[in-house]
Parts: sequence; C-alpha cells; structure tokens
Amino acid sequence: MEKESKRPPCFKISVPGDDSKKKDVLDKLQHVRSIIVKELNHPVEKKDVDQQLFVTAETSLQKLVSVSENHSSFCTGHFKFKKRTQKGHVAAIRFTCDKDKHHSVLWSSSPYLPNGEYMVNSRIFHGYECSGMLPVHYNRFSQGANIGHINKSKQSYMFDKYKRFVDEEYNDSIETALMEEVGMYEDLTSIDIMTDARHGWRKKR
Ligand SMILES: [Zn+2]
Repeated sequence: MEKESKRPPCFKISVPGDDSKKKDVLDKLQHVRSIIVKELNHPVEKKDVDQQLFVTAETSLQKLVSVSENHSSFCTGHFKFKKRTQKGHVAAIRFTCDKDKHHSVLWSSSPYLPNGEYMVNSRIFHGYECSGMLPVHYNRFSQGANIGHINKSKQSYMFDKYKRFVDEEYNDSIETALMEEVGMYEDLTSIDIMTDARHGWRKKR
C-alpha cells in the first residue's frame, strides 16, 4: 500500500520580477502574518515571556469562568486584572470591572483543603517531597520556571504536618504487615517472628 503523504497539497505561482520584487511580496505576506498573530493573540510578545506564572486547579478555573459569565449577564463592563498576590505557587488575583468599580472579584488559583491550606501548594509540596529533589533543586526549578515558590518557613511548617501523616501511614503499614504475617500461620498467636528476604515478604508494599 502506498504510504500517505503527510504534507498538504501545494501549488506554485510564478511572478515576474527580480529579488527586490520577491522581497516586497514576502514582506507583505509577513505583514499579513503579523496581523493574524496579533488578532489571535498567539504567540506571546517578547515582553510577556517573563511574566509571573502560577499553578491553578480545574475547579478554580471553572469558578472564574462562572463568575465572569454571571457578571456579563448584568453588566457590559470588562473585568480587568488589578492586583496579584503570590502565595507559594498560588496566585490571588483581584479583578475589577472597568465600568463599575464595585464589581470586583478576588480569585484564588487554588481551592482550599479542609485544613485551610491551598490544595495546589500541598500538592506541589507532596510532589517535591516524594521526588528526592534537594531544596536547592526546588529553589532553582521554581525560579527558572517562574511558577512561584514555597518559602522556607512555610516549607518547614508543611513538612511537620506532612511528617505526621507519613509516620501514621508508616506505622499502619507495619501493623498490617505483621497482622498478615501472623495470619499466615494457624498456630501462631504472637508476633515475635523473624522474617527475611527469603520467605513471607509482603506483596503489597
Ligand atoms: Zn461590571
């Protein structure tokens, strides 16, 4: 079977003229392209490449869309970006209507967890802790990507909380392992058994 060509079909137009005529035509095409790019707002302009980034969650984004739609239903103004406060990897952004300054919304890029922490920061912290990254790697990564940064004191606060859960899980896991081990022997009632790598290891690690 003949392999299908991935290139779209094309045709050639021949225009009489020298190199300056060619340059003239290409410049015009470039101009048209730049207008299209501007209209579509893509790609970003050079000055916008260094803008501060943040991490968001699906539900937070949905909320922003809903608030914006709701506002449009009774006001012809537009929400303008007023102020951004960076909280770790989360951004809290104030949007204010350009028609009526009483129409204003403070949007957070992350939902809250029941313990009052930002879900986004907790999730990134979890990833960081599990990755084996050293603090210096995390710092450089955050700075390089420009996605915000959980500061040192916040990190140790989060680590203390995180450690408690890891300890709990760890102890639960050991307890379950011992129970499983005991359950394997009919006559065994105590847990003073020796296990090594050759037998009775846990399958569910
Ligand atoms: Zn408004």
